[in-house]
Amino acid sequence: MATLLAPFSPPPLHDRAAPLLQLENVTVNYGNAPALHRITLQVNQGDCVAVVGPNGAGKSTLFNVIAGIVKPNSGRVQISGSGPDRHICVGYVPQRNRIDWRFPVTVRDVVMMGRVGKIGLLRWPGRRDRDLVQAALEQVGMAAFAGRQIGELSGGQQQRVFLARVLAQEAELLLMDEPLSGLDIPSQEAILAILDRLRRQQITILVATHDLNQAAAHFSQIVLLNRRLVAFGPPNDVLTPERLMLAYGSQLHVVHSDSGDLLLADTCCGGGEMDEERFVRTEG
Ligand code: ADP
Ligand code: MG
Repeated sequence: MATLLAPFSPPPLHDRAAPLLQLENVTVNYGNAPALHRITLQVNQGDCVAVVGPNGAGKSTLFNVIAGIVKPNSGRVQISGSGPDRHICVGYVPQRNRIDWRFPVTVRDVVMMGRVGKIGLLRWPGRRDRDLVQAALEQVGMAAFAGRQIGELSGGQQQRVFLARVLAQEAELLLMDEPLSGLDIPSQEAILAILDRLRRQQITILVATHDLNQAAAHFSQIVLLNRRLVAFGPPNDVLTPERLMLAYGSQLHVVHSDSGDLLLADTCCGGGEMDEERFVRTEG
C-alpha cells in the first residue's frame, strides 16, 4: 500500500530547490478586520506541522490562502516554487461544520472526487483511477464502506474518507482543518496513526488543532497563531508559558505547581461542536 504514491512524479515546472511551502508577509483582511497579518513561514517536504491558536486566530484563513481559495491582500504564497492556484498537489480537508453532510454521495464517489484534478472533467475514471480509489480506501480502513452514503458515517469515519480522497489525489501537501475536534479518542488515534503513515511517505502535513498536548506529541513543528505569527518551530520552543500567553491572552489560565507550570488553554471551538478545556504541562 505504501506504493500508492510512488508512481507520481511532480510537475516539471516546480523548482525542486524551493521549500515545499513558503509564505512571505501574507496579510488577509476581511473588510477592515485583519484575519492574518504579515505571516512569514517556510515548511519543508515531510514536515508535520500543527497550527494552533485561539478561536478566530486565522487558522482556517491560513489554510484557505494556502489552498488558493482566499487571495491574500498582500504578500505571497508559494508551493514548490509556484502560486497555489489550482495546485493539484494540495489536498484540503475543511472544517467539518463547513461541509454539507446531507449531500447524497457515496464514500467511493467522495474519494473519486480526489481524482478529478488528474482525470479532467471530460474523461471518465479509468482503471488506474478506480484502483487508486480502492487502494486509498484500504489504506484508511474504509474499503468495506465504499458503497455507503457519506452522511451515514460517524465523524471519525468521514475524516478517514476525506483522508482517502487526499491519497487518491496523490497530494503532496495535506491541509486538515480541525480533523480531531468532536471525535472520540479511538477515532482521534486512528486519524493520527494515518497521519503518521502519510508523513513517512514524505507527504507534508498541516493540521489545525485545539489540543496542545496532541500538537506537542504528534507534530514536529508548531505554528502558534493569533492573526500574527506568535511563534513557529519545534513544540518545546513554541509551547512556552510566555508564548502561549501571547497567543491566547485572557483565554489562558496559568496554574503554578511544583512540577512545572500547568497551563489551561480555555478554548471554545466554532459550530458549538466542542466546548472543553485543553491543557498543556510545561517545564517549570
Ligand atoms: P480560526 O479558524 O482560527 O477560528 P478564522 O480563519 O476562521 O479563524 O477566522 C479569522 C477571523 O476572520 C475571524 O475574526 C473571523 O470572524 C473572520 N472571518 C473568517 N472568514 C471570514 C469571511 N469569509 N468573511 C468575513 N470574516 C471572516
Ligand atoms: Mg477555523
